Amino acid sequence: MTSLLLTGIGSLVTNDPARGDLLGELHDAALVIDGSKVAWVGSRREAPASDAALDVGGRAVIPGFVDSHSHLVFAGDRAEEFAARMTGTPYSAGGIRTTVAATRQATDEQLTANVARLVTEMRRQGTTTVEIKSGYGLTVGDEARALEIAGHFTDETTYLGAHVVPPEYADDPAGYVSLVTGPMLDAAAKHAKWVDVFVERGAFDESQGRAILEAGMARGLKARVHANQLGEGPGVQLACSVGAAAADHCTYLTDADIDALASTGVVAGLLPAIEFSTRSPYPNARRLLDAGVTVALATDCNPGSGYSSSMPFCIALAVREMHMTPAEALWSATAGGAASLHRSDIGHLTPGAQANLSILDAPTYLHLPYRPGVPLITQTYLAGRPL
Ligand SMILES: [Zn+2]
Repeated sequence: MTSLLLTGIGSLVTNDPARGDLLGELHDAALVIDGSKVAWVGSRREAPASDAALDVGGRAVIPGFVDSHSHLVFAGDRAEEFAARMTGTPYSAGGIRTTVAATRQATDEQLTANVARLVTEMRRQGTTTVEIKSGYGLTVGDEARALEIAGHFTDETTYLGAHVVPPEYADDPAGYVSLVTGPMLDAAAKHAKWVDVFVERGAFDESQGRAILEAGMARGLKARVHANQLGEGPGVQLACSVGAAAADHCTYLTDADIDALASTGVVAGLLPAIEFSTRSPYPNARRLLDAGVTVALATDCNPGSGYSSSMPFCIALAVREMHMTPAEALWSATAGGAASLHRSDIGHLTPGAQANLSILDAPTYLHLPYRPGVPLITQTYLAGRPL
């Protein structure tokens, strides 16, 4: 293993709580990568000797983004649906079926190439960990193959057979839940770390959601929930009662929902690119943060409700539209995502952490929301290797 000293770092975001402020920010800093890990962090003047050195010229360095929610295994796109929505057609969960039809017809090679393209796109924008869900196959074979393909790109694979009831089960939703908790789970479980369910009008109700999560958990999967996107509902309370890692969307929350998130430690995943692309009201992140809820920011990249792969875009939206401070937004896009995925080895830059980081063409992380839409990520390291 060889070591690399990154020096001349104008602003280094460590997310180390021992350093006081939320982001554990250091100025005029240096960082040593040894193999795949961070070996040392501190003042430039105190940096140890290393095999190689790179002076980043006063630029900012941040932890790699942890995108804890995406749907990358699909075929086709729904650009026309987006255009219709922008002229007044409301979003509904049923549009998922359009992508299901295209995905079932695609070859493994086509699906794999599409995921590869999107993961490359994400990495160019500073994302070093991405969770990827199934959910556009909705047959035993198609869900298992989606997860197998996702597994080529990430360890954070999520079984979402309960994305929507497919057309062939329109008259028998109970039969579909039996499939999702039975043979489909049998085929999916070995390829998945997580189980997820879309608890929403037009998708699955509270008791169906509970049955699906509990079946997955009985097979060793950990739970996460699509909750409270289109209106108030039982999703958040369900996530809290089964001990899910995260309740994602959280657009419409009651005070009781917020209390439940705060008291159970379930992470609230906010996905503002979806509100942007469905022209919906944004969740109030301030309400969650002030109540002590852990917040993650993620893209929810998918071909229907929001097709952005950009964590910097989500940070800009979080600051501009959800009243997060720039520091809170960056923390939620890195350490918050790691918390959502129950990962302690990523989302921060402290000795022993994975060396996942990005160099910004900017003196401070503040430029992420201050310069929205500008490609500021100049170089990303994944497990110590430049991408
Ligand atoms: Zn989603």
